[in-house]
Amino acid sequence: MQKEVVHPDFGEIVLQKKRTNKNIRISIRTFNTVKKVYVSIPWYVSYKNGLQAVEKNTDWIQKNLSKVSKYIYLPLDKKELEEIRKKARIILEKKLDNLANRYYFSYNKLKIKNNRSNWGSCSVQENINLNIRLIYLPEDLMDYIILHELVHLHHMNHSSSFHKELNSILEKHTGDKNFEKKAIKRMHSYKIS
Ligand SMILES: [Zn+2]
Repeated sequence: MQKEVVHPDFGEIVLQKKRTNKNIRISIRTFNTVKKVYVSIPWYVSYKNGLQAVEKNTDWIQKNLSKVSKYIYLPLDKKELEEIRKKARIILEKKLDNLANRYYFSYNKLKIKNNRSNWGSCSVQENINLNIRLIYLPEDLMDYIILHELVHLHHMNHSSSFHKELNSILEKHTGDKNFEKKAIKRMHSYKIS
């Protein structure tokens, strides 16, 4: 049995009654970047008590709503995926060319990849590979990933010279000396799946 209510701060909340539930338990689930609050309640407890538990835990819910991972899903349909690939190539090629020109890099070819292992990579042939899902990231994170790969054209490793160059470009680009640190943290919430 379940009941849905709209909470003024958290949007739709799903209250679920199950015989196996021993306690009231609040959790947050994600559906294609949309986060929803779930409340599991024992069979004999009223929905009203479930909602009271929500009110008692608003801080926890708020905190966890903002840190839940944002999964990026691609359509399974081949045609739809092809459309997204075309769109990604246009967006990412323009971005890459702009950033390469502005910060004096020259690369060989851009490849749009559909993989789950990385957001981007740079090959010894000086090709830049970018994940098709990048187009769903906020623009400053998209720039961050692309700049990271461009700097690999100068340093094929993650040495201190690599980070020195990347950080100096990021500072010029964003005006923020600590941008990389913050970006790495923000990237943790985006999952490739
Ligand atoms: Zn790297």
